[in-house]
Amino acid sequence: MFKKLFKSVVAICCLVLSACATGPVDEYREAKGQDSRVKYIILHYTWESLMDSIKILTEQEVSAHYLITDEEPARVIQLVDENRRAWHAGKSQWGTDTNLNAQSIGIEIVNLGPKQSGKKVPSDINQWQAYTSSQIERLIVLLKDIQQRHQIQGKNILAHSDIAPQRKLDPGPAFPWQWLAQEGLGRWYDEHQVASLTRKYKKEGLPSTLSLQKALKTLGYDIELTGDWTSKSQQVLRAFQMHYRPVKFDGRMDAQTAAILMNLRAMEASEN
Ligand SMILES: [Zn+2]
Repeated sequence: MFKKLFKSVVAICCLVLSACATGPVDEYREAKGQDSRVKYIILHYTWESLMDSIKILTEQEVSAHYLITDEEPARVIQLVDENRRAWHAGKSQWGTDTNLNAQSIGIEIVNLGPKQSGKKVPSDINQWQAYTSSQIERLIVLLKDIQQRHQIQGKNILAHSDIAPQRKLDPGPAFPWQWLAQEGLGRWYDEHQVASLTRKYKKEGLPSTLSLQKALKTLGYDIELTGDWTSKSQQVLRAFQMHYRPVKFDGRMDAQTAAILMNLRAMEASEN
C-alpha cells in the first residue's frame, strides 16, 4: 500500500517538475487585440565619419536601431533590436507624445551635415553635405519594410529636427524628403494647390500669425500659440521649412511656406 502511494507521489512530482522544466510559458496563442508599440520613425544624420559614428553609437549612451553607411554602395547596420528602445530622440515632442524613444525606431545616416563647423547654421543648402543616392535607396527599402511591419502612418516618419526643433537640425535641409514622398513615404503637399495658394497669399496677404502657429501645432509641432514670431517659434518654422521647403529655411514666414503649411493642415483636417 505504502509502496503504491510512494510511486504515485513520485509520478506526480515528476509531472510537476517536467511541466516546470518547459519554462514559464506553456502555450502561445495569437490574440487579435494588439498593435505595435512603434508609432514613429525618426531620421538623423550622424554628423561624424563612419568609423566615429559606429564607435559613438555602439560605445556611448546615444544609439539608434539602424545606421546607414556612406560607403559605395551604402550598407545598413542594425545596432539595436526593434523590440528594444534605442536612445536617439532625447527630449522630444510630437503632438501630445513626449520623449519619443519609447515609441520610435531611430535611423542614423552617415552624413556630416553643415560642411563648415561653427555656431552659425549655414543658410545656403549647398553648404550642407549631400546624401548619396545609394544611401537613400537603402533607406527607402528599410523604411518600407519597417512601416509595413509596424503599420506606421506616413506622417509619422519624421526628422529629429521636427520633434526637437529647439535643439536639433538633423537630418538637415539636404535630406531629400520629396524623393521619399515620391516613393509613398512620409507626408507631402499638393504642388498645384500650393502654387495657387502661394499666388493668393502674395496678392491678398498671409493668414494671421496665430492661425499659422495653430496649423503648425495641428501638424504635430511643439509650438506656443503666442500670435507673434518669437525666436522659439522661428526655430519651429525653420524645422518645418527644412522638411518641406529646404531651398530657404530662414525661419521667416513667407507666402510659399504659408501655402505649404495650410495645404498640409487642410489634408490633416480631411483625414480626421
Ligand atoms: Zn539626431
